[in-house]
Amino acid sequence: MEKDGSNLIPLSSDFTERRDRICIFGTGDFGRSLGIKMLQRGFSVTFGSRNSSSVSLLPEGAEVLSHAEAAQKSSIIFLAVHREHYSFLTELIEVLEGKIVVDVSNNLKINQYSESNAEYLTQILPRAKVVKAFNTVSAWALQSGTLDASRQVFVCANDSKAKHMVMDIIRAVGLIPQDQGSLLAAKEIENYPLQLFPMWRLPIYICAGLTILVFLYCILTDVVYTAVTEVKDISFRIAISIPNKVFPIVSLMLLALVYLPGVFAAIIQLYLGTKYSRFPDWLDRWMLCRKQLGLVALSYAFLHAIYTLVIPIRYYARHRTSSSIIAQIKNNDTSPFVNMSAWRTDSYIALGILGFFFYFLLGITSLPSVSNTVNWREFRFVQSKLGYLTLVLCTGHALIFGWNKFLNVSRYRWYLPPAYTLSLVVPCIVLVLKLILITPCVDKRITQIRQGWEKSSKMAKETL
Ligand code: NAP
Repeated sequence: MEKDGSNLIPLSSDFTERRDRICIFGTGDFGRSLGIKMLQRGFSVTFGSRNSSSVSLLPEGAEVLSHAEAAQKSSIIFLAVHREHYSFLTELIEVLEGKIVVDVSNNLKINQYSESNAEYLTQILPRAKVVKAFNTVSAWALQSGTLDASRQVFVCANDSKAKHMVMDIIRAVGLIPQDQGSLLAAKEIENYPLQLFPMWRLPIYICAGLTILVFLYCILTDVVYTAVTEVKDISFRIAISIPNKVFPIVSLMLLALVYLPGVFAAIIQLYLGTKYSRFPDWLDRWMLCRKQLGLVALSYAFLHAIYTLVIPIRYYARHRTSSSIIAQIKNNDTSPFVNMSAWRTDSYIALGILGFFFYFLLGITSLPSVSNTVNWREFRFVQSKLGYLTLVLCTGHALIFGWNKFLNVSRYRWYLPPAYTLSLVVPCIVLVLKLILITPCVDKRITQIRQGWEKSSKMAKETL
């Protein structure tokens, strides 16, 4: 049993017998960092290098030999050399026969070569057992020990025994192996470190686009309109008032966009009468980034909450309050308490607080550490049922905030509706469509389709 801090995972017997010597080809950044980590975890390390006599900066306790000599010392060789230099291995075909060669290499571009580096290595060393691993871990993270963000090590190989031995080493150095199957997966694994937030790109573009549009809309209908029609400068609103309109509007739109593709998918399935037909690519991409859309929406809701909290300490708000009090004193007049207004403000604030609470809950349950602790049904309950509840609460918050302003012609500046109405369009569409979809007769058909029922097979039976 390997007694390694967080992991108490039994090592395979083959590996336990020979775990004490590891060979690393290449004394560059990655080879050195891996060597240091291995030495710290109790392995003996032999480096194979072109210049075995003049290598500097190597960890204490490691030995350096020529490639052929080093390879003879261990059954596992880590190849910490760039793919472009693999040709030197042709001279080592004999000595590497039957040995496990771990390819850690990455490329500079996605799909740079027609075959993966690991598959290319099997062509050079056909009698070695090639395993792809460690390429997603950086040399810096290995050496500094800051492995929290990259503890997962993707592993693939055609030889299952060799793969499991490498997985044992991964556990022994405190990382978590992720078995990705055969070497066919190597290309995908090699592309992982080259991807920059692939799932976040679309949500961020949507969010940035909406933010810019809504911001310009608010500037036009607030600042520019007042400057033109009243010759009054209220540009100070750009700092807090306008962002505090933009954030909730965009947040609510994004939250609705999280649930809109699910509604579209249900309508498409109803129309086609099957679940076995592929959704259009745009819908697939949209469905895949719903979690990221939701998290961006949550961050905007968070900003809205913070911006709202500072309202009482703003000079503008304090000035407005004191002016109104002074005006009442001067006129010897008290503005009456309007019960309806009290109800309205209390209601939209209450809905906002509750909406934000469920929003937050949704965000927390989408974190892997939390979602891993619930089963699929629980996860769906939270993300779907509580998600719709959040959408209802936040839409109610915006509706009551706006109240009947949309009926007031003076609010339509240059014939443009008040900004808050923008935020209500998509959520109202989603909620109305969802309401139709959950009516018993429609819901029954959708459930049948999702359980495998097909319209075409029913029609075929009827024509027989
Ligand atoms: P590096 O610092 O440039 O080191 C590469 C080593 O390869 C050299 O130190 C040299 O070692 C050896 N080498 C260079 N030319 C050679 C040749 N013509 N023939 C044989 N060996 C040669 O590169 P690295 O950053 O350590 O990266 C090594 C591999 O690890 C790459 O495939 C890289 O994609 C992968 N990787 C790196 C990182 C990282 O963070 N750096 C992370 C994941 C994966 P000797 O002088 O001792 O022969």
